[in-house]
Amino acid sequence: MDLSNLNSEQQKAVKHIDGPLLILAGAGSGKTTTMTHRIAYMIEQGVNPAQIMAVTFTNKAAGEMRDRVESLVPRTRGMWIMTFHAMCLRMLRYQCEVLGYKTGFTVYDETDRKSLVKRIMKALEINEKTYPVSYVISVISNAKEREQNSEKYIAENSGDFRANTVYQVYREYEKEMMRNNAMDFDDLILNGVRLLEADPEILAYYRNRFQYIMVDEYQDTNYLQYKLIHLLSKTNRNLCVVGDDDQCIYQWRGADIRNILDFEKDFPEVTTIKLEQNYRSDGNILNLANSVICNNKGRKEKALWTEKKDGAKITYRRLPDEKQEAWYIGSEIDRLHEAGYPYSDMAVLYRKNAQSRAFEEKFSFRGIPYRVLAGLRFYDRKEIKDVMAYMHLVENPDDDVAMLRVINEPKRGVGAKTLSGIQAYASGYRISIYRALCEAQVMASLPKKAGKALQEFVQMIQDLRGELDNLTLVDLYDNILNRSGYLGALEAADTVEADGRIENIMEFKSVVAEFEKSLENGDEAAHQEELREEREALAKAGFPVDEPTPLAAFLERITLMSDIDNRDESEDAVVLMTLHSAKGLEFPIVFIPGMENGIFPGTASFDEEGRLEEERRLCYVGITRAKKKLYLTGAETRMLYGRTDYTSESMFLDEMDKQYIDGETVKERQAKQGGIAGDGGLFGDYFYKGRSHGTEDGYSGPDGGKPFDSLGYAKKQTRKKFSNEGLEAGDKVRHPKFGEGMLIEDSGKILTIAFDSVGIKKIGKGFVNIEKV
Ligand code: ATP
Ligand code: MG
Repeated sequence: MDLSNLNSEQQKAVKHIDGPLLILAGAGSGKTTTMTHRIAYMIEQGVNPAQIMAVTFTNKAAGEMRDRVESLVPRTRGMWIMTFHAMCLRMLRYQCEVLGYKTGFTVYDETDRKSLVKRIMKALEINEKTYPVSYVISVISNAKEREQNSEKYIAENSGDFRANTVYQVYREYEKEMMRNNAMDFDDLILNGVRLLEADPEILAYYRNRFQYIMVDEYQDTNYLQYKLIHLLSKTNRNLCVVGDDDQCIYQWRGADIRNILDFEKDFPEVTTIKLEQNYRSDGNILNLANSVICNNKGRKEKALWTEKKDGAKITYRRLPDEKQEAWYIGSEIDRLHEAGYPYSDMAVLYRKNAQSRAFEEKFSFRGIPYRVLAGLRFYDRKEIKDVMAYMHLVENPDDDVAMLRVINEPKRGVGAKTLSGIQAYASGYRISIYRALCEAQVMASLPKKAGKALQEFVQMIQDLRGELDNLTLVDLYDNILNRSGYLGALEAADTVEADGRIENIMEFKSVVAEFEKSLENGDEAAHQEELREEREALAKAGFPVDEPTPLAAFLERITLMSDIDNRDESEDAVVLMTLHSAKGLEFPIVFIPGMENGIFPGTASFDEEGRLEEERRLCYVGITRAKKKLYLTGAETRMLYGRTDYTSESMFLDEMDKQYIDGETVKERQAKQGGIAGDGGLFGDYFYKGRSHGTEDGYSGPDGGKPFDSLGYAKKQTRKKFSNEGLEAGDKVRHPKFGEGMLIEDSGKILTIAFDSVGIKKIGKGFVNIEKV
């Protein structure tokens, strides 16, 4: 294999196969690249791919790494490249019975978990105001991360009144989860560890299987993940971890920075490799990042350097409010796009999800295609969750969360009283709601209408379960939609909202169909073939495992999709996401809005030094995502969560070395003006231009139209104008992104259009080519 495109330290790491290896290096120094090459190199050297496990932080990173390895070596079958969750899920799917679960258990996502905790709290009459659901969940989650079940948890916190309340919920939660045959995401890791600890033979099997283990983003592993990895690699000691202590940004979720700092203690014979050359960012960006992160104490000193030119300076602008901030970023995006940058080269990385709304509004107004990687995902929509709940019930009828979601959806005349009667019966006998409904005496006690409807409902689940082997997934899906009455109810509703839901359900059907097709002869087929081989190997070793149904395989796929997976690379769109989810990624052009105290760094970090350092690392992560150009912006006043506040500039701006920045902070300007800043002076030139032009954007950019040499501008770019005139309400029109629709109103500045694809949108006149069709 040709390693000549790697530097000598990277090559050294690639060729180090046996014995523990630590690659500790700064952002963009090629850690992930090195790890990928190392896997390919090992396979080329004759290591069986099935002996290799690589753990990544997101599914997307796993997919990319797998593709890359496959492009480097011909034979990769059997290697595990996946996230911690996926890896544990895989092991548990084979052997959850060891821990008392039944095969085909369900994985609950955040929404499911929330609804279960809510329900338990209601039953226990615990006030949600005193004990917010999110608080209770986070305490339980933390306890699990420390391997405390409810009993251990209360033993460690006895005498604490609040802990006692949480304990009651936690205990019930455990029972309910077992009864529902379900695990949440924390359980996946916890049970992964428990599985390996419970059965020495299983542990020996996996230790033997995975001779070579690698972990990317090791700085963000928590205690349990650490334990899992160490259990598996203890005897082989061929563990390679890769990370950057400056990029540990998940301490709030239990990540322990010491895992990486203490690696040399865990494995005294370790070989440590440092990578110091950054290949990602231009000089100014890298220097700016360094000037921020050096304010953290107790970090391992690293000297990152680059051969790249200085490049464009970082642009800083403070705008009057969050709307103008979004508008400004939108105008820059348009300008860069016209200069030849595809939209997909640009990313807006914000601190809080709630910040995305302003961008979505302004971007759709300007006709900028964008993609939000968070928020309400397709799979989080009500109708999708509903039909998924039906599918889950067919796979695992004991899943009470799914049951409660759809028992009266569509309306079956099951009143609150009837339902609580059934629930009381079920919990009395410690059985699931489904099992309760299967009992004749329960059925007999129901009111007539509900009884009949539920009888049909139960019959449907039984029929579909009986037919599982004969039905295609698409048929199963159709059956569910029709027999449950779900589709019928939406059709009968005949509202715009219901129509939208029907569309989504149909869209989801294509997801099902696609999966099924790929099961036959696509990626999924190869994947399933691998899984089959794995089951055979397990059986050979004396652990026979069941064959999962295609339905189970499908549900698993969907469950494991995290936000980041929604990124469709083929579409040319600006990416909007949180700074946290941007870890490990890179973009030519990055915008970081909300450079204000209280947003970034967040409020909580002012109380605690550790928190502040974590925010600073997040700032470092954000800056180092950019390859060519970075924008930092803020707003003078900001409306967030329904409140408008004056803001102060982020303290991180004070820490940044100003020689790399174009654009003054308030402080600098005040210093220049002898301590007093005129009101208008605070806002910079943009304020006036932006305001006075309103939607007519004559603004030419942060550098006043000067050539942006390092970004490849030859000369000032002028915006192409679209006339959008001569359109009348009622006209059929076409938008380059949203497709066809009907013009509802032309207000002179704004066109209101009802699109077939996305519903009603307001579009700024002159920005986008709206054609009459
Ligand atoms: P992060 O800390 O953000 O996860 P990283 O250390 O994992 O970053 P990579 O993502 O592997 O860094 O690499 C950053 C960029 O540098 C990528 O575009 C990669 O292709 C490039 N790169 C890595 N090594 C080299 C090299 N030796 N020569 C040229 N380009 C390289
Ligand atoms: Mg990386």
